[in-house]
Amino acid sequence: MKDCSFCDIVNRATDNQILCESEMSLSFEDKYPVSLGHSLLIPRMHEPNFFKLPTSNQFDLWKLLTELQEILTEKYQPDGFNIGVNVNSDAGQTVEHAHIHLIPRYKGDVADPRGGIRWVIPQNAPYWD
Ligand code: AMP
Ligand code: ZN
Repeated sequence: MKDCSFCDIVNRATDNQILCESEMSLSFEDKYPVSLGHSLLIPRMHEPNFFKLPTSNQFDLWKLLTELQEILTEKYQPDGFNIGVNVNSDAGQTVEHAHIHLIPRYKGDVADPRGGIRWVIPQNAPYWD
């Protein structure tokens, strides 16, 4: 695929950049992490839309997610995680190669973490007051 930074990673990543991998997928740390250890899981094949990936690729990514969680837990001892997939630019996707974000969270990293990924739409996020 031309001009895809994640395809470049698939083709050129060195062993020490790869956190875990399988025949279909691989994982590496996000270049602009929102928290310490923020990592991405991607299919080796180029497909922008997560839901258009063959089911076998989707399953493989979710399987690798648990392995990645164990690696990040060992490395950074976070207190929690957020898991996220942005599908299409209207949902915030900026890199057009499907990926799952795994975002380690740390006690006190934001003043009030309640709601987590609900904050993608801030005006509707809080429901508890
Ligand atoms: P999204 O907005 O869901 O498409 O997320 C794209 C993610 O890719 C962001 O978290 C970026 O920080 C990350 N990113 C962009 N370019 C690179 C790169 N060359 N290597 C690693 N991560 C990247
Ligand atoms: Zn790509």
